[in-house]
Amino acid sequence: MAKLPLSPIRAGGKPTRASEHRLEIDGLSFEVHRSDRRKTMQITVERSGELSIVAPSKVASEQLVDFVEKKLLWIHTKIEEKSRLQQRAPSKLFVEGEGFLYLGKSYRLRLVDNQLVDLTLKNGRFCLRKNSIHRGREIFVAWYTRLAQPWFETQVLEHANRMGVVVKEVKVQDLGFRWGSFSAGGRFSFHWKAILLPPRIAQYVVVHELAHAHHSDHSARFWNRVEQHLPDWQWRKAWLAENGIQVEGL
Ligand SMILES: [Zn+2]
Repeated sequence: MAKLPLSPIRAGGKPTRASEHRLEIDGLSFEVHRSDRRKTMQITVERSGELSIVAPSKVASEQLVDFVEKKLLWIHTKIEEKSRLQQRAPSKLFVEGEGFLYLGKSYRLRLVDNQLVDLTLKNGRFCLRKNSIHRGREIFVAWYTRLAQPWFETQVLEHANRMGVVVKEVKVQDLGFRWGSFSAGGRFSFHWKAILLPPRIAQYVVVHELAHAHHSDHSARFWNRVEQHLPDWQWRKAWLAENGIQVEGL
């Protein structure tokens, strides 16, 4: 994904300005994506506070501005909401029955006395050894990272083939507020948290990063590239913006 800002964009009464791919209104900056497939306009507030609009190709700039201005209260409310959620303290307690996500499904935690390894996922339950609870977070992060590595490698190679991208390296690590990153020479990184997402959402993250191998920005050409390989990318992106925050609480 793009290098997202750490704090939400603040309002500031700046003049309204429309350019081809960016729209500045009320001190807010929107990334605009136009598509022939779109029938309606839609605004998305990312978890970082980044803003984007998808709109039908034919919509005039004035109409777009009008649409955004009518939604300003909603947008500011959303930005504040995301900012609050981001500051929330880690919420996992590592107690019996607590749910933990893995590829979009929640599995309940069982605390067990005897087990060779700290953590396993078997029979639809995460089993954590009781005397390892104090290292619970560290153990889960290591488990997610280990499982995420082959999953993302497979996905990257599969999609890279179709998208004509050469892959040098796939890494799984803590990327802060980013789900994924791409650097020149075919090096891809994914946040270990991305393995908590439903597979179709994690696939969007993969295709998004692969598309950056062709276009480093978020221009219309970039989104067209994403669309070629994932025609339904828009709901996946919106889902991630709306629900991705829920995988934060570990
Ligand atoms: Zn990006």
